[in-house]
Amino acid sequence: MTATVTQRLMLWFPRCECEKPIVYHLVKDYDLIVNVFRAKVTPDEEGYLMLDVTGTEANIAGALDYVRTFNVTISATARGLTWHADRCTSCGNCLTHCPTGALHVADRATMAVAFDDARCIECLACLRVCPFGACASLF
Ligand code: SF4
Ligand code: SF4
Repeated sequence: MTATVTQRLMLWFPRCECEKPIVYHLVKDYDLIVNVFRAKVTPDEEGYLMLDVTGTEANIAGALDYVRTFNVTISATARGLTWHADRCTSCGNCLTHCPTGALHVADRATMAVAFDDARCIECLACLRVCPFGACASLF
């Protein structure tokens, strides 16, 4: 059996590409498991999709080539949620609201809070509870 991998992607759709069934084709034609965990797709506006795709490396590569045939920007590094360490006072307000531990105490001695990008599922709970604007959303 061929090993599968999971890759997190952010897709940015300009206005004209929003209504195309790209995700449908990722599933049907490239046999990918697609987990869309955040989306902003509004008619007449640009759209964003944050998703994990799981499949063989060859199928993921083929799917990305397919997506690139549209006017869609793919980023494997961009995140919809950004954390600004310089604004964080380590007040701890967010810790019990972050469901994955992405925001966590990194140093028990100083109680300094840190952000682990890989564990963030972009639920945006931290945006509502951070008094210092350390968490920000791209969209
Ligand atoms: S968006 Fe959600 S998962 Fe990510 S850091 Fe904020 S609370 Fe945690
Ligand atoms: S609520 Fe904001 S300032 Fe407080 S620890 Fe969390 S990210 Fe830092």
